[in-house]
Amino acid sequence: MIVFKLKLTPNSIPWFEENKIDLYAMEAALSLLFAELEPTTHTKSKILTLQIKYGSDESFYTFTTDKICICDEPDSKAKSRRKKCLAFFDHFLHEFRHWMQSRVYKISANKLTYDKDDVKHNTNAYFRNEYEVDARQFARTHLTKFTKYYRYFSKII
Ligand SMILES: [Zn+2]
Repeated sequence: MIVFKLKLTPNSIPWFEENKIDLYAMEAALSLLFAELEPTTHTKSKILTLQIKYGSDESFYTFTTDKICICDEPDSKAKSRRKKCLAFFDHFLHEFRHWMQSRVYKISANKLTYDKDDVKHNTNAYFRNEYEVDARQFARTHLTKFTKYYRYFSKII
């Protein structure tokens, strides 16, 4: 299995404290989810860097890196801490899936053939891109389970 470690960039630490996100529970939940999806016989650890992008309205992952960037307000309409947390996990899982596409399945970045303007205007080039569809599907499919694992681990760690 891969044991994931999440490393925060220094300016992201206050955001995690303020939003009371338990990083250890996230690491444990992610490691368990990944082990279910991609069982392996050997064990290794993997460090992913997490960065909060203040003032940005989109999260992103740059292919071939081990860094995931999440916008500071994934759902501006979410009022409760629970809803905010869910929106954050949804973005996190989406970008994590892009990490899997790149680092596990070795998909080349040039398969994601859209640019910043496509993202901004949500064009078909972006919205219907096979790997975007896959990432949205992944987050949708696994959000409940990931959140359940997170809650269990946050109680015992
Ligand atoms: Zn995406």
